[in-house]
Amino acid sequence: MTPKLAVQKFLERHNYIKVVPRAALIDMDGTLYDSMPSHARAWQQMMAELGVDVPREQFFMYEGRTGASQIKLLFEKYFGVEPTEQQCADLYRRKTELFAEMPPVEVMPGAAEMLTFLKEIGVKCVLVTGSGQRTLLDRLQRDFPGIFTPDTIVSSRDVRHGKPHAEPYLKGLEVAGFRADEAIVIENAPLGVEAGHRAGIFTIGVNTGPIDPAALADAGADLVYDSMTDFAEMLPLVVYSLLTTMNNFN
Ligand code: MG
Repeated sequence: MTPKLAVQKFLERHNYIKVVPRAALIDMDGTLYDSMPSHARAWQQMMAELGVDVPREQFFMYEGRTGASQIKLLFEKYFGVEPTEQQCADLYRRKTELFAEMPPVEVMPGAAEMLTFLKEIGVKCVLVTGSGQRTLLDRLQRDFPGIFTPDTIVSSRDVRHGKPHAEPYLKGLEVAGFRADEAIVIENAPLGVEAGHRAGIFTIGVNTGPIDPAALADAGADLVYDSMTDFAEMLPLVVYSLLTTMNNFN
């Protein structure tokens, strides 16, 4: 689908007149950092310590959920019980330790180009992540200087409901100071796409992992790209399409 057609469909579905992109609400893991393989390995190891062998792909489908929410799902699925809050806290701490022991994760190719372009055209960037781990949050300033500040980061600590609930992206709008028709969402995970879609925001799904790209479209992505480098190249056209497409209310 061309960006223009995607924008037209989006405007019709939401009854918006047009979208003026003043803010970009951007996911972190799997979008700005190629961190998902390490997260999946850390989760897998945490579960192995409890005696359960969980397929790696499982964690790519859980991506975007908060740590506690993932632990609840894993307990229900593999032990048939609900974990206590103490168990959630202890196991998430363990998973975080295991993640910190992994080799350092790389910046996602294309991410810096995307952020630089958004900054140049005056779009405010807000980070919206299900993570609460300091390991990557602390690196943002070094890896993407001048883009995010502590005031423009929404993490799992700032919301009650994680993705796929709309709350993280609604909170992102609040932090940005703009409405849903003044923003775009950039996400790599189906549950994150679902959250952006539910918040009524034009949502771009970028497939950077092993999942079927159809899962992003099914979750409500208005546009889907195969990599961040592809998306970074197309971004000027996406912005142009947003700025020049009006709903003709047919
Ligand atoms: Mg992600």
